Amino acid sequence: MGKVYIIGGGPGDPELITLKAYNILKQADVVIYDRLVPKSLIEGLKAELIYVGKEIGDANLQEYINRLLVEKAKEHKIVVRLKGGDPYVFGRGEEECIYVLSNGIECEVVPGVTSAIAVPTYAGIPVTSRLVSSSSGFTVITATRAEGKLIDTDYIPKKGTLIILMGIHVIKEIESILLKVRDRNELVAVIENGTTEKQRVFIGKLEELSKIVETNNVKSPAIIVVGEVVKLRDKLWKLT
Ligand code: SAH
Repeated sequence: MGKVYIIGGGPGDPELITLKAYNILKQADVVIYDRLVPKSLIEGLKAELIYVGKEIGDANLQEYINRLLVEKAKEHKIVVRLKGGDPYVFGRGEEECIYVLSNGIECEVVPGVTSAIAVPTYAGIPVTSRLVSSSSGFTVITATRAEGKLIDTDYIPKKGTLIILMGIHVIKEIESILLKVRDRNELVAVIENGTTEKQRVFIGKLEELSKIVETNNVKSPAIIVVGEVVKLRDKLWKLT
């Protein structure tokens, strides 16, 4: 019987994978990978490569991936499930791991550098800082929940840094939900293709959020950061 490793590939810059994950990747017989995985990580591997990039909410594809993991492991293979960022931050790594274990196959999860923290870092934005008054912590949310449902105001803290994933395709709706809870003059950053050579960063006020995205034609993957920490970019970005 083989074994399944569910590993985090990091946020985009291929060097932001952990050494542990990289070593496992080099041993793999099969690599099953997503859209957001840095391509240079898999180029030149001896493994069989299977792309399973998915559209949001495609339930059948998830079942196919689960079955593929089990099927390949039953062929006595070292199966690597390579995901963008961290497997357990909106990565569904836990669903896959539960499925694999319930089929009597060993499964190990290797964490990754999540885009939720690293993408702001590469834009010169620390997710917490004592240099700004309201940064008591940070919250990471997804704009769209299971079955494509939007988040509501219950998920939006009044204070602190707010980091929003998967929000670009519903930016107008997200803007209006945010404005119900947060101040319209708060700073926001929109970071597209963070940590990569294609990274673009836009700064503005919360009330301009959807305008920023539309004017600049921002596409997924992108992260939205709301909060006072965004202003530290002026001091930090040249160093990152
Ligand atoms: N498990 C991943 C997140 C998967 S959800 C992690 O830990 O990073 C996918 C969302 O992550 C995207 O819609 C986007 O909001 C964000 N994301 C991932 N990589 C990104 C990147 N390089 N730049 C900006 N946002 C990114």
